[in-house]
Amino acid sequence: MSRPAIAHIRLDAFRHNYRVAKKHHGGKALAVIKANAYGHGAVQCAKAIENEADGFAVAAIEEALQLREAGIKAPILLLEGFFEATELPLIVAQDLWIVIHHVWQIEILLAAKLGKSVQVWLKMDSGMHRIGLSPAEYAATYLRLSQHANVAKIVMMSHFANADNLDSQHTQQQIAVFKRATAGLNSEVNLANSAAILGWQHAKSLFDAETQWSRPGIMLYGANPLKTSSLNLSSTDQNDVLRPVMHLTSRIISIRKITKGESIGYGSIFTADRDTIVGVVACGYADGYPRSAITGTPMAVDGKMTRLIGRVSMDMLFVDLTDLPDVIIGSQVELWGEQVPANTVAAGAGTIAYELFCNVKRVQFQYSDVK
Ligand SMILES: *Cc1c(COP(=O)(O)O)cnc(C)c1O
Repeated sequence: MSRPAIAHIRLDAFRHNYRVAKKHHGGKALAVIKANAYGHGAVQCAKAIENEADGFAVAAIEEALQLREAGIKAPILLLEGFFEATELPLIVAQDLWIVIHHVWQIEILLAAKLGKSVQVWLKMDSGMHRIGLSPAEYAATYLRLSQHANVAKIVMMSHFANADNLDSQHTQQQIAVFKRATAGLNSEVNLANSAAILGWQHAKSLFDAETQWSRPGIMLYGANPLKTSSLNLSSTDQNDVLRPVMHLTSRIISIRKITKGESIGYGSIFTADRDTIVGVVACGYADGYPRSAITGTPMAVDGKMTRLIGRVSMDMLFVDLTDLPDVIIGSQVELWGEQVPANTVAAGAGTIAYELFCNVKRVQFQYSDVK
């Protein structure tokens, strides 16, 4: 028998979530599948929606080429554009779309001999202060690019810093900055990440519905990024609920009893405050389960909820089986997935579901799809 740690990826759930994202936003949607589709497998995820996706977004040309080699013909946007001039011939040959976020890219793009024009997504820094042109230089740059033979269509784009926080005023401020700086420019607009799609629906009413794009990422994988859970996707309509895509499971490989006062694992950081049944699960931080997860982080064994105890080690972790007397060697453990939301594990580890998903490795990946 091989090691039982498995990431089961439900492609039907991924496709469902893409449809939810599109429905919520109302415009066209680039499915963000950078970083190997947040650890889920970029080629498999892209293929699951290639007949209906308006396009895909990735972080770099290597990720785009992997999709092209797998036969994906849909548009692909490079979210940071090119990093070097040498990428431009491939960008043209593979018909990729590029973000332009800085003047150094503009000088390279306009000096290049391309023989064909490239679609540009011109990024504005409307307040996140990561990448993008300043609002003051945006319109002039737009006009300069729009007159150049190397540039095909231009889509206007920006990114939100705090869309996951519904109490923050920052998103509205960023939208106001973006609107002001693009006044009079007649182009399609791409602003919304998952949090904006879910939490800032009124934002899109500021722009023409037909000219809008969104860039859903994390919601495609079934995790809601909003800080407040009160505004959940309309729980009344089951068709609108996000479905978890990754189901990380393993099995119990050892069970022992410890008496009150005994400790377990590295650092002996968990000491039993009652006689305790301890299960050992074949999954550790080398598989992507976070070492920072604290005692009490939820976990399901044979479908019943219990908790992580002690320190996560490289290949194994401990689970509290005291109240689950029926559990045996070989019982299945869900680390996250259907019963255990990745968001709650992330909270127990002081991180976000994005990072958990991206870190999954070494486990067997199994894919299923229900059409
Ligand atoms: C990663 C990324 C997204 C997707 O964000 P989510 O929060 O996962 O929806 C959208 N836009 C840009 C520029 C990104 O880098």
